[in-house]
Amino acid sequence: MAEIKVPFFKPSFSDEEKKAVCEVIDSLWLTTGKVTHEFECEFAEYVGSKHALAVNSNTSGMILAMEACGVGPGKAVITTPYTFVSTAASAVHLGGDVFFADIERDSYSIDPEKIEEILKKDTSHKIVAIVPVHIAGNLCNMKKINEMAKKYSTAENKIYVIEDAAHSFPSPTKDGFAGTLGDIGVFSFYATKTMTTGEGGMITTNDDSLAKRMSQMRLHGMNRDAWDRYTNPKASWEYDIIAPGFKSNLPDVLSAIGRVQLKKAKSFDEKRKKIAARYSQAFKDLDYVILPPDGEGNAWHLYLLHLDTSKLDCDRNLFAQELQALGVGISMHFIAIFNFTYWREKYPDFRAENFPNADEHSKNTITIPLFPDMSEEQADFVIEAVKKVGEKHHVR
Ligand SMILES: *Cc1c(COP(=O)(O)O)cnc(C)c1O
Repeated sequence: MAEIKVPFFKPSFSDEEKKAVCEVIDSLWLTTGKVTHEFECEFAEYVGSKHALAVNSNTSGMILAMEACGVGPGKAVITTPYTFVSTAASAVHLGGDVFFADIERDSYSIDPEKIEEILKKDTSHKIVAIVPVHIAGNLCNMKKINEMAKKYSTAENKIYVIEDAAHSFPSPTKDGFAGTLGDIGVFSFYATKTMTTGEGGMITTNDDSLAKRMSQMRLHGMNRDAWDRYTNPKASWEYDIIAPGFKSNLPDVLSAIGRVQLKKAKSFDEKRKKIAARYSQAFKDLDYVILPPDGEGNAWHLYLLHLDTSKLDCDRNLFAQELQALGVGISMHFIAIFNFTYWREKYPDFRAENFPNADEHSKNTITIPLFPDMSEEQADFVIEAVKKVGEKHHVR
């Protein structure tokens, strides 16, 4: 394979993260403790949520969130096929089911009308949560989604809204940050996300009882965590188990990295947006590129190069291959879930033809490099490569 001249992603780290990690190691408190509590407080303040719970991944957080909302055998969630599989798999881990709603034609966001079609048919009140995903950092129509959840909730059966906010940090809107616009938000600090702890995540909510449940289920179903048992004058060995919980806490070593990254989040955001704007400026007159949607609060986590393949004599895969051959690191967000064996076998109706928009985006989109430390020269290199491949395959 050709040498990669501009990588798809590169995390931004400095001596500050190293120093923070060393301090935790020197403290000899290696599991979840004071540093994680501080990270949670700072994150909650940043996005303006009452509670923030640090977890070891977005996936763990999503399982906890769905569990707290009542997902389990006989219950289900609605999400989109245009996401990472963990969003949907989380419901299955709990014994629940997934209903899929297509995305909108002109964005990557779950279509509220498709959500309503599913809710209308759900006369047995199986659905307990809607899980919108803010793809690439561009926010879903949260107003409509919240309305839908409210409209179809009953006294016995509340429908919760859980935002998969893995791509949308930071995403401020006039109604608050992404992750605080529904009942629960779940962030990811995976290695390639807008801020990273290597692996990690954060759950946000304003609901005290959901927060309590998720906090206990995060650590074995214990009614007290290790830090509380260490610092609280009550006997340290005393605790109760209220349910068979999970092990999803974030250790202090990683939270220490998170605290430093959080301080840099604003500057990361500004740098990514400059590169994204440079891309869009360069691509706006190319008829074979459909510019990414850019709504309020867009975090620009990813730059999705959506090809209009009717203007090209090649498909997306060949286009991607030729970009790589020129030295451009690429990724795909996302291979729509109906393409995967497990999901096709699980749900016989779960087929591309029933999700034309997700299928079209999934077939024609390439994720091109975007990261804070990217130079203008690197961005221009990517732009030239896109134009070179595009011109070669352009049909006039
Ligand atoms: C990365 C990602 C996840 C999973 O995050 P982890 O922290 O790796 O578990 C979930 N949903 C979306 C949309 C993602 O991009």
